Amino acid sequence: MPRPIHATISVSALSHNLDVVRRRLDQAAQAVAGRAPSIWAVIKANAYGHGIDAALAGFSAAQGLAMLDLAEAVRCREAGWGGPILLLEGFFQPADLELVDRYHLTTTVHTREQLDMLAQARLSRRVDIMLKLNSGMNRLGFAPDAYSSAYTRAKQLREQGVLGSIGKMMHFACADGPQGVAGPLQVFESVTQGLGSGPISVCNSAATLRYPEIAVTRGDEAHWVRPGICLYGASPFEDQSAEALGLLPAMSLRSEIIGIQDLSVGDEIGYGATFRADRPMRIGVVACGYADGYPRHAGTGTPIVVGGARTRLVGRVSMDMLAVDLTSVPAVGVGTPVSLWGQDGPSVDEVAQAAGTIGYELLCALAPRVPVKRTS
Ligand SMILES: *Cc1c(COP(=O)(O)O)cnc(C)c1O
Repeated sequence: MPRPIHATISVSALSHNLDVVRRRLDQAAQAVAGRAPSIWAVIKANAYGHGIDAALAGFSAAQGLAMLDLAEAVRCREAGWGGPILLLEGFFQPADLELVDRYHLTTTVHTREQLDMLAQARLSRRVDIMLKLNSGMNRLGFAPDAYSSAYTRAKQLREQGVLGSIGKMMHFACADGPQGVAGPLQVFESVTQGLGSGPISVCNSAATLRYPEIAVTRGDEAHWVRPGICLYGASPFEDQSAEALGLLPAMSLRSEIIGIQDLSVGDEIGYGATFRADRPMRIGVVACGYADGYPRHAGTGTPIVVGGARTRLVGRVSMDMLAVDLTSVPAVGVGTPVSLWGQDGPSVDEVAQAAGTIGYELLCALAPRVPVKRTS
């Protein structure tokens, strides 16, 4: 028998979350009599740890898929995905363009080097690109004063038959916080104004949920949003839970109690003896540790659900085990189910917060050794 830990991926939760995003965009479009944008469901990092196959099943109603890894993109095509696929970091070397060509991928272009590689490539068809502006995040993209010449270069490549559509793209650094989107959006609008028409893509989850109106199409340019985290049922916001957003957790991490210890006052728990009982306590040992992807920085007090009752983690998380306080949880024994996060557990965002990180990191870091079950 394998250890009792396992993750469940709910395909219906994935589709539900896509629906939540779709409805939000439709409402925003109706409010201004515009057209709702199309959705590139972001499935990078093995669909935020959920698996590409589950994502393909859950996001079949999305217009497109977006990711970084060429192998993941190829897998989507080979699994029969016929819609657009966007490479969020573009391609890295000339040989990648053969795959872009063969599998009909749309690519982000964010450097002059990529334009050079396109100019030298021998391809069987035109490549659709999204030309990326660095609107202030200073991660990927052409600086505002370099963007229009990059765009002109792309247009020349289109005239030469190398490129197909040339879209405009940027990424927000602070859409989830008080700084919001206004500053970078203004940069984007002033830099891209009058350059020529093509698809536009600016919104991640936070911007899509909080500022859906900026993705509403009023003219003839097609807008595309790029939500990721919210599709998996976690929140992009510190001040708003996934539940409050109407999202359902797609990944549930569960295990069982595999040992029980009865402690007297002064007894200590785990490595470093960081927790000491100040009263008689009952402790459960759970088959889940940091080698499963549970964060080691989650300290005493991190919420955890044992046998349906919410309690707390105590002491340090080990590689393969962690300890929970059973003092106020009745009728727990070896084999009692434990919910680490997800459906009927704490939210992944609560666990992340207790560990000083974000839900994204925990979902992506689910360890390969954890068996995954898919439910419809
Ligand atoms: C990861 C990513 C997204 C999705 O971000 P979320 O915060 O998960 O919605 C969108 N666009 C780009 C360029 C990304 O890298």
